Amino acid sequence: MSTLPVYGPTDTQNVHDDQPAPHLVVHVAYQLSREELLAVFIHGYATTNLGTEPHGMTVEQIRYDVEAYLADTSLLYLSDRVEELRAQQAAGKDAARLHVLAKAMDRAYPAKPGKAAPAAIHPEILDWHRGAVEGDPAVCGMPQPGQPAFPCLWNRSAHSDHRDLLGRTWRGGERP
Ligand SMILES: [Zn+2]
Repeated sequence: MSTLPVYGPTDTQNVHDDQPAPHLVVHVAYQLSREELLAVFIHGYATTNLGTEPHGMTVEQIRYDVEAYLADTSLLYLSDRVEELRAQQAAGKDAARLHVLAKAMDRAYPAKPGKAAPAAIHPEILDWHRGAVEGDPAVCGMPQPGQPAFPCLWNRSAHSDHRDLLGRTWRGGERP
């Protein structure tokens, strides 16, 4: 496996009402250049968020759109999207728009993830994290997709997004 920064999965794809009985979940590792990532985000964004400005999107929304687009398309379409992006940039079309989208993308996908040093975490946050790991009944403890060592450290009251000790959030839902 490569040593590149890894993001996701943010949520499970192919979840819909008329789906046959689910059997398992397959995680796919998808290596992308920055240009490919931008092309994917632009098209994922365009298909789902026409009413939302890119800078108003949460990191989770951006990552979800990227993952959904990758799940719905293929390597063949990806190269077409990159060619379109290159043509758009070469023609100087929508440069300001592309810049806004690229900034939102970089916010969701920093080149060096996990900048928060463990020493910077407040002791109280660490206590809640310990509670989540050790099964304290006061702590939510919902496992994080792809990051099983970093469960949710909110208390058990209702919350829409789970949050780990590094401040990463993921979509809430019913406890299994
Ligand atoms: Zn939670």
